[in-house]
Amino acid sequence: MKLHEYQLKLYFKRYGIPVPEGQVTSIAREAKLITEEIGGPVVVKAQVLTEGRGEAGGIRLARTPDETRLAAAEMLASKIKGIPVRKLLIDEAVNIEKEYYILITFDRATRRPVLMMYDTGEIFIEAAASALYEGLDRVDIDPLIGLRRFQIIDLASRFDVPEKHIRRFVDICQNLYKLFCEMDATLVALNPLAITDDDRMLAIDGKITVDDNAYYRQEMLYDFQPTGAMEPGVIYDARKYGMYYSKMDGDIGCLMNGGGLAMACLDYIRIRGGRPANYLNMSGNVYEEKVITAMDILYQDPQIRVILIDFYGGRSDCSVVAASILKTLPRNLNNLPIIAHFCGNKAEEANALLAGSAVTTVADFPEAVDKAFEITGGLQ
Ligand code: GDP
Ligand code: MN
Repeated sequence: MKLHEYQLKLYFKRYGIPVPEGQVTSIAREAKLITEEIGGPVVVKAQVLTEGRGEAGGIRLARTPDETRLAAAEMLASKIKGIPVRKLLIDEAVNIEKEYYILITFDRATRRPVLMMYDTGEIFIEAAASALYEGLDRVDIDPLIGLRRFQIIDLASRFDVPEKHIRRFVDICQNLYKLFCEMDATLVALNPLAITDDDRMLAIDGKITVDDNAYYRQEMLYDFQPTGAMEPGVIYDARKYGMYYSKMDGDIGCLMNGGGLAMACLDYIRIRGGRPANYLNMSGNVYEEKVITAMDILYQDPQIRVILIDFYGGRSDCSVVAASILKTLPRNLNNLPIIAHFCGNKAEEANALLAGSAVTTVADFPEAVDKAFEITGGLQ
């Protein structure tokens, strides 16, 4: 998951990484008010998750509140690299004397985090991270020891960071590494970290990618779903519970547990000529709220015409799933037919619980698919 710049700024502040004063808005008139409050020239920055916004017209300087309003109105009606602009960050404009690009990511070759630095012109952070550019100066971080002050001071001296800024620079790098660890990030960047003509050191722009597998424990991120509809919000509902969801273009809603079982079921549906509407893997440790969340995701999908469930009870038992599904039935507002196959731990109990309910239980998955085809008219 990637955060928008305005969201990231909240984290930067919390971790003691100084940022320009600013506010986010999606209304041009409000952008004008923010400019009046800031009281000086501002930069209007499109909040789109793409690289090279500046070159694509996503960063504009405005000298007066009226200029901001005009720029904001234009930008909110535009697209940057095909992405509609829904939010703008209005930041105080600063005069930059020197820029540094700082990136922390994992180097899979050394199996360690690495901090990289660059000071001559904008770089494409993600490209740099994936290629781990030879040209970038780097500091390998021992995960057991952390990023040491002397390592950063050494790096700073290679880039001639002015003496009076070194202490701040060291703090910023250490704080950035702390943020990287605590947020379960796979990439964080200051692009750039600027020294201004009034002698401040500020993160003018940043990037963060949080490891999706750690999303469930980054509760602060729950409110931070990306805007711009790059991914449906339900992906994050699923991730909170350690489930994996992807949207597909068919009409058969799918709910399975375990990646192997889920993919085998989806493959089988495809081989029979059916079209899954989604992949939804409940993974291990299944309990009531998890099942309810999963069922709600399927109920909300307008493309789904039938729901297929295949659950293998190992440590998690089938009867918990069945009882939880029963609880969700009042929310099945489109009366979607539900066909379930249980096997393993407490499968018979699950079938007994669902007997006489709106959920049809079957003896094996092929039979579930037969039934789904009868309903969707997709019988081959
Ligand atoms: P990006 O194109 O998405 O990386 O957007 P940035 O926020 O990094 O902006 C692009 C470039 O615009 C930066 O590298 C800066 O050189 C410049 N820039 C951004 N904000 C300011 C500002 O307040 N003052 C000045 N002088 N330049 C800025
Ligand atoms: Mn940048």
